[in-house]
Amino acid sequence: MVDEPTAWDVFISHASEDKDSFVRPLATALEQLGVSVWYDEFSLRLGDSLSRSIDKGLTASSFGLVVISPDFIGKPWPEYELRGLVTRDVEEGRVILPIWHGVTRQQVVALSPPLADKVALKTEGLSAEDVAIQVLREVRPDLYAKHPRGELERLASGKAISDLQDEMDRTREELEETQEKLSEYRCPYCAAPLVARIHAPVDEEQKDWDVREGFECGCQTFGGSVERPCPADPEFPGFQDYELFFDHSPDEPHLKWKCYAFGKTRMARGLYLPTGYGTTKAEAEQRVRKHLERCAGRGKKKNLGAICPKVSPPRAPPKSPKPPA
Ligand SMILES: [Zn+2]
Repeated sequence: MVDEPTAWDVFISHASEDKDSFVRPLATALEQLGVSVWYDEFSLRLGDSLSRSIDKGLTASSFGLVVISPDFIGKPWPEYELRGLVTRDVEEGRVILPIWHGVTRQQVVALSPPLADKVALKTEGLSAEDVAIQVLREVRPDLYAKHPRGELERLASGKAISDLQDEMDRTREELEETQEKLSEYRCPYCAAPLVARIHAPVDEEQKDWDVREGFECGCQTFGGSVERPCPADPEFPGFQDYELFFDHSPDEPHLKWKCYAFGKTRMARGLYLPTGYGTTKAEAEQRVRKHLERCAGRGKKKNLGAICPKVSPPRAPPKSPKPPA
């Protein structure tokens, strides 16, 4: 039915011999212009029915292009098949547009006089892109009117698409560079922002210097290695990584108990836990435990991982810049 919406703007019925040299480039150019094209299933071989091909195409397309070429003419079409090509669009209300491709008017007259009278597009001296633009004017006048001719040529040739691709590649590269630069100033584990950056001596004689960086999550690096772990680091210490010592001072009026925590692992030693005071031993220990929990929760609370572009944090912290001369 004419009023039904169609899935395709055009189908292209063509001799199979013309597919590579003309039909595919035409279809590609049309698609680049925004026209939806159905053409793969319309390669006519010897003995195929032209009218069946057209009927099938018209079930789902607004326009039918029939490429009349020497190879097309070379096929022994029965008269009724060619008559259908001329009259079908009147019956269906959809349009069949013949494309004369490398054939003369005399050749078409010889094939079918009524067909020679039908309005056709001629490809002589035209590229597939030029033909596509002419087809566009017939099948999608809305799109044709939207662009100046030069723009259409750029679109049909795919130049616009490759320009766009280039631009996208450039943008992506710039974005990656920026992220790389930014990541130098973020926690290597959770991407929390840098809050402090100082140069500090490596040795007591202060001969060698390096950079100490502190991040919002609590992570601290010195010379590129972790001094104080990030809560997002899988090796962030647990309470079991500390050895506890207690001091009982019965003479103290209030806080009679002190709890000292000493790290048993390198990571635990990096995260200093201050002394806990309490009226009981358990209370003193609880103070120390709470401090560790606060440190561990520092990164999670702000969901800092969300701004980190990397899914899994790198194991090795980033390289530190050179110390001052
Ligand atoms: Zn962190």
